[in-house]
Amino acid sequence: MADTTDRLMDKFPHVPERLSGLVDLAYNLWWSWHPEARVLFKQINQQAWKKSIHNPVKLLQESPAEFYVNLISNPEYLRRYDIIMNRFSRYMANHNGWFSEQYPKGRSLTIAYFSAEYGLHHSLPFYAGGLGFLAGDHLKECSDLGVPLVAVGFMYSEGYLHQHIRPDGWQDNIKEMLDRDAATIIRVLNASGEQMVIQVPFIEPPIHVAVWKVNVGKIPLYLLDTDIPSNLPENRTISHRLYAEQAEQRLKQEIVLGIGGRKVLNDLGIEFSALHLNEGHPVFAQLERIRERVATGMSFETAMNQAKGTAVFTTHTPVPAGNDIFPLDLMSRYFSEYCQQLGIDEATFFSLGHHPCEAGTGFNMTAFALRITQYHNGVSKKHGMVAREMWRCLWPGLQVQDIPIDHITNGVHIPTWLNPRMDSLYSKYFSSVDPQWQTNRDNPEIWQMVDEIPDKALWEEHIWLKQKLLNRIREKKRIKWESQLNEPGNLVAEGLMLNPSVLTIGFARRFSTYKRADLIFHDKIRLRRILNNPWRPVQIIFAGKAHPADNEGKEILQRIYEFAQQPGFGGRIGFVEDYGEQMAQYLVHGVDVWMNNPIPPMEACGTSGMKASLNGVLNLSILDGWWIEGYNGNNGWAFEGEASPESRDASDAAAIYSLLENEVVPLYYSASLDGIPHGWVKKMKETIKSTSAAFSARRMVKEYVTKYYPSLLACAENECPVP
Ligand SMILES: *Cc1c(COP(=O)(O)O)cnc(C)c1O
Repeated sequence: MADTTDRLMDKFPHVPERLSGLVDLAYNLWWSWHPEARVLFKQINQQAWKKSIHNPVKLLQESPAEFYVNLISNPEYLRRYDIIMNRFSRYMANHNGWFSEQYPKGRSLTIAYFSAEYGLHHSLPFYAGGLGFLAGDHLKECSDLGVPLVAVGFMYSEGYLHQHIRPDGWQDNIKEMLDRDAATIIRVLNASGEQMVIQVPFIEPPIHVAVWKVNVGKIPLYLLDTDIPSNLPENRTISHRLYAEQAEQRLKQEIVLGIGGRKVLNDLGIEFSALHLNEGHPVFAQLERIRERVATGMSFETAMNQAKGTAVFTTHTPVPAGNDIFPLDLMSRYFSEYCQQLGIDEATFFSLGHHPCEAGTGFNMTAFALRITQYHNGVSKKHGMVAREMWRCLWPGLQVQDIPIDHITNGVHIPTWLNPRMDSLYSKYFSSVDPQWQTNRDNPEIWQMVDEIPDKALWEEHIWLKQKLLNRIREKKRIKWESQLNEPGNLVAEGLMLNPSVLTIGFARRFSTYKRADLIFHDKIRLRRILNNPWRPVQIIFAGKAHPADNEGKEILQRIYEFAQQPGFGGRIGFVEDYGEQMAQYLVHGVDVWMNNPIPPMEACGTSGMKASLNGVLNLSILDGWWIEGYNGNNGWAFEGEASPESRDASDAAAIYSLLENEVVPLYYSASLDGIPHGWVKKMKETIKSTSAAFSARRMVKEYVTKYYPSLLACAENECPVP
């Protein structure tokens, strides 16, 4: 691919030639899902690695020359370095993965993947929640499978919004600017060696976009940045943060992502034959493809039909906030010139974003996406059904089951979310039947080998990870105490009294109202009895951020925080600040039970439960999203949500209490003489066996490829299958 970037070595004059590979490695997130590669950075200096918050670029910049002198005289380090650099080069050079076996001619096909957010690693603040991690895991898995994909997203310079909880439980947001020069991102340069800047076509006043790149293994992710001097002040802020609240700014974000993103790929000479739109935000990329065809002399109609057959649109949520609707006068302001280029009048353009059952509401981006792409999917079986029902208005003649919205259930990238210690334990047993088991990680058979792991080994590993989680929480509190002299009540509320020998429930996700984070407090007396049972106590760890504009979410958070401060709950509730990728890793590896209780059918999928399950953490969840497919009766706990809004909370909370009282707690505390709760471990094994392959990103990416890509490929070669 024809892009040039900064000469990276020049930025690190103190890194010796012998170790120059560390610089290449730092600028490719391959290190983030290969723990052996991370160790190379950690060994430079463990404290500095920690202090950099696991950002190898920062680490290399800040490590004094003497660190490297030590390394090049350390044969053990050099040996590891050589082996890992060799593996990295082989990985990058290998274009013979699963994809090329399936589609020997498929290399001519490039798929462009557009998303407003990417959750790749905690050092890159380009995500808000599940949608981002789904996109990040998609890229990593495409890299591993050799799928020829290029990705486009935003470089959010103010993407870090750290959560700080005040003593009264109110969430403050502390902004941290991303230091572009100390991040694992690279400037893309133009022919004269300056950073590439494009202008978004046909949008007035003009918007300029600078281009960055992140290497995600073999997948290039191009990032758009409007914070450059050539832009008007109001346009510089477009790429500051995820999901601007104000409609005009949000529209400009989507214009930049779609139209600007398409322009960037064009200018880089990247020809792609198919487009995958992750949620509605980037849909203008498809519009721009249509405009380009019109510019060659095609009619709008023909251009649209041609572009349509090579585009997949994935819808991710039934929640209204996830489905943008823009006022028509606003649309008109930005698209009047553009409509002329499309050769259609404004009314025709607006009709593409019209929702026939919600007349007069504006330009609906999801309706628009559904109309201008051929292939559509939801993100779980249930969500597919919900989406067909939700959008059936767009296909008035069809029965609901015939609405052209399919589903592909989400999955998680196993090397990213499986704890390395668990990975070694599994590998020890899996490798005895299949040394290449990671290549076949979407094969459920391999996972049956979990049965051969001795209960003791699995249990001890789990307890070790739980201890690690609690140590981490307490250490953070210690530091906060030291620096801010917090009131003791707050230290308790933030988890100081959590005890590793107590059954531990985790609840961590964004504090959107539909997720009902405080549901378990519905009957406080019953909850107190469960938590404070002297023989079989229970503790709960909460984490999650409310959107800065979501006061209702902040109020829920505050209520939980207040409960956590009350002595009546016995110090058995902890609220962990600043939930992000790193804390998510600790939690999904280290708690005993992962709890989820949204209002059905709002949880389109929910991926954190998959991450937990992969590590042997048992789900206790309402039947919604992925758990409807994941739950098999023996691999965790499930309850049906109550349909009636009036009694819903009481009834759902009661379902959780009874499961805890009658099943979860007794099972956990039924250890045999050897100290191991064998019944519990049996369930841990059952959940690992039954969910890991099915809810892996490998299964998911293969499904996207096999379901859609042949048709896309055929259509790209001018033989569009008749839908
Ligand atoms: C996986 C993940 C999510 C998404 O989890 P849900 O179950 O969909 O809420 C959100 N945030 C972080 C940090 C994650 O790792």
